[in-house]
Amino acid sequence: MNVKEAIYAWYQKNGRHDLPWRQTNDAYKIYLSEIMLQQTQVKTVLERFYFPFLERFPTLQSVAEAPLDDVLKMWEGLGYYTRARNLHHTAITCKGVLPKRPEELGGLKGIGKSTAHAICAFAYHQALPILDANVKRVLCRYFALSVKDEKVLWEKAWKFLAVKHPYEHNQAMMDIGAFVCTSKNPNCLECPLSFTCKGKNTPENYPLAIKKAKVPTKKRFALVIKKEGKLGLIQRKERLLHGLWGFVQVDEKPKNAHSLGKVTHTYSHFKLELEMIYDESLHVKVDGYFTEEEIESLALSTVDKKIIQTLFSSK
Ligand code: SF4
Repeated sequence: MNVKEAIYAWYQKNGRHDLPWRQTNDAYKIYLSEIMLQQTQVKTVLERFYFPFLERFPTLQSVAEAPLDDVLKMWEGLGYYTRARNLHHTAITCKGVLPKRPEELGGLKGIGKSTAHAICAFAYHQALPILDANVKRVLCRYFALSVKDEKVLWEKAWKFLAVKHPYEHNQAMMDIGAFVCTSKNPNCLECPLSFTCKGKNTPENYPLAIKKAKVPTKKRFALVIKKEGKLGLIQRKERLLHGLWGFVQVDEKPKNAHSLGKVTHTYSHFKLELEMIYDESLHVKVDGYFTEEEIESLALSTVDKKIIQTLFSSK
């Protein structure tokens, strides 16, 4: 049995066949799972986001017809909101029907080459390799590559692909990366690639780890603005949180403001420490005033949700 056959056999026996996006050939549902899973664990996507999103938006056409606010609301808590904005943009651009060619898919906002290949391989069984973070690690170890070079990895992925059954091959590679060839303590004894794997004696060397810089902490202040029992919020314009509602943030603490507590949130590049402050003499322009009930229906970023929870739980 060669390595491709071994991977196929391993998948038949050990693959996660029950994942809902593996039980459909609906390109939209596969696309949605790929986008949600880009920065979020399978467990979280499965338990909290995938099914409610599909219930609200059963087709890509329904995403295209909805206002962005509604899409963001269903994405609330999942983070990395650019994914939701790109999904909405893509739904409108392709009028609710995804193209079937990987080159066309890859030209849509938020769909990279690997995601385009995943959609085509999983929905239409096209013979295309995928290259997500787990697969990259497996290939680096299998071919003993100490540097994660995209071009080299794509070449290896193409050569390694089992063209007879690309669906199973790609799903298997993802599962092997997730459960067998894990970043720490890979289980080479249970791995279908082990017989010919060049990196199995020193898997930690492939690829060589790049030391991550410690994320800096930013300290800012969130203005709690009140009017007639309602809270004043703005709709964010900055790139990462665009379209989400939240509290006005400032770098300097206004002189007479008093503290209502702190919340923290860790983003990919920094940790935000946000002190909630209140000063009734402050006059700050906001985009709207909302009751607690009205805020429930708005899409808020996680840190703004934390503020709301802190404010209302201390009432
Ligand atoms: S044999 Fe070990 S290092 Fe090689 S791919 Fe399998 S788990 Fe990873």
